[in-house]
Amino acid sequence: MIGDAKCKCRNCSGEVSFSPSLAGQNVECPHCHLETLLFIPKIETILPGESKCDCQRCGQPIAFPVDLHNTEVECPHCHRATTLLIPSPSARVRKADSLPPGTEPLPDPTLAYVLAIILPLIGFFFGVWLMGKKQSGHGAAVMALSIFAALFWLLIFSQMD
Ligand SMILES: [Zn+2]
Ligand SMILES: [Zn+2]
Repeated sequence: MIGDAKCKCRNCSGEVSFSPSLAGQNVECPHCHLETLLFIPKIETILPGESKCDCQRCGQPIAFPVDLHNTEVECPHCHRATTLLIPSPSARVRKADSLPPGTEPLPDPTLAYVLAIILPLIGFFFGVWLMGKKQSGHGAAVMALSIFAALFWLLIFSQMD
């Protein structure tokens, strides 16, 4: 059989070529001559607002609108009931073809440094202000604490790199 789509036989894992219009039908495998289900192995285009998950019964991918998340439907492949679930990025790692690159942006380290410097700086000036209010005891304590906090955070962030 010559066609545009290819899938693996569920009995012998041999490659079966077929016309995409035959997807979802049972045919005789050309390799092991047992009956196997024709399916299109990966859906190349996912529309915005669409997700896909694997059927809980037969493991074939099912594309569905995201608002059907957590809904029980009939699988288009095996026609048994399955629940549509939007897969988490970690669950999709095993399927390299379906993982879009750059889905998890790394936290910006610049922001961490800014927070580590700006926050103790505010504390430092609060200490200066307290000293100006003739509360030198409190002021010195706040200043010491903010300097300590700055060193503490910078130590943590430098170890993260
Ligand atoms: Zn086969
Ligand atoms: Zn199924």
